[in-house]
Amino acid sequence: MMTAPKQPMLRGELRLNESLGRYNTWRVGGAAAQMYLPADADDLAQFLRTLPADEPLLWLGLGSNLLVRDGGFPGTVILLHGCLSGLLIEGAEAHVDAGVPCAKAARECARAGLTGAAFLAGIPGTMGGALAMNAGAFGGETWPIVGSVTTIDREGIMHRRLPDDFEVGYRQVLGPAGEWFLACTLNLAQGDGTAEQAAIRALLERRGATQPTGQPSCGSTFRNPPGDHAARLIEVSGLKGCRVGGAEVSAKHANFIINTGDASAADIEGLIAHVAAEVERLQGVTLRTEVQMVGEPL
Ligand SMILES: Cc1cc2nc3c(=O)[nH]c(=O)nc-3n(C[C@H](O)[C@H](O)[C@H](O)COP(=O)(O)OP(=O)(O)OC[C@H]3O[C@@H](n4cnc5c(N)ncnc54)[C@H](O)[C@@H]3O)c2cc1C
Repeated sequence: MMTAPKQPMLRGELRLNESLGRYNTWRVGGAAAQMYLPADADDLAQFLRTLPADEPLLWLGLGSNLLVRDGGFPGTVILLHGCLSGLLIEGAEAHVDAGVPCAKAARECARAGLTGAAFLAGIPGTMGGALAMNAGAFGGETWPIVGSVTTIDREGIMHRRLPDDFEVGYRQVLGPAGEWFLACTLNLAQGDGTAEQAAIRALLERRGATQPTGQPSCGSTFRNPPGDHAARLIEVSGLKGCRVGGAEVSAKHANFIINTGDASAADIEGLIAHVAAEVERLQGVTLRTEVQMVGEPL
């Protein structure tokens, strides 16, 4: 890792040629040309104004839904996890910065006696990633509890937006072009915090029983097609345990692809393509990835 000299006025940290393998849950991928760790939202705005207008940008939370290719990302990665970390509860509202882990938001809301955010405990990403993906678990989804969001554009201008400004679907969110999430306000209800904390524990136990949570993966690789489950289609196609290099279809949950230790991003991408082709051939169903693929092959 190399650290570049700080630009005047900037308070964050710029890292050059930063390997991205440690910033995603598959633990694969090449390096980013540069990565910025903002000190806060104003500092990020300042940094964005220093970039060329055509600089490729990648916004990164906990990398729990990202396949970074082995050749890395030829642009600037903006890391929000560990950087934009504010969380403030006022009445039945929680103001959560984009870099806050969803599990922390769920725990803090329950501790404050608020209900409605327990499902977030099952999502191993940040609030920014949950907003970008409309992440959901155990019957709950992110956007139905969002009151408003703050976004930022390339010029460093911040915008307050309402849910109506976005087209929200299953693991898909379309909003004003060229804006990224900085924070959100969650509208929750005042209730029994102890029961909510118990619900979180029960959800996590259920999750541990049905998913290979201890092995590097990105959770569900494919979106569920309408009226069916990707995991069922993969399982009936006989693909559990199927491997490409160090990547393997989990025997515990067929929609999870795990890095058994030495997988490359190319192994994982190859296995994704093989699974999709086999499900298409054997079941006649086209699977679409939920996982976002970024960067260049080697
Ligand atoms: C074991 C496991 C279980 C999982 N279970 C679930 C589940 O039950 N339900 C579910 O929905 N998902 C699940 N996931 C997937 C993942 O946790 C979610 O998609 C999560 O919302 C991603 O958040 P992140 O911070 O890791 O985003 P990242 O992986 O860092 O990024 C994902 C996408 O969001 C974009 N993005 C990130 N931050 C921002 C921002 N601030 N503004 C704009 N765009 C941004 C990125 O550029 C990228 O395109 C699981 C993953 C794992 C590893």
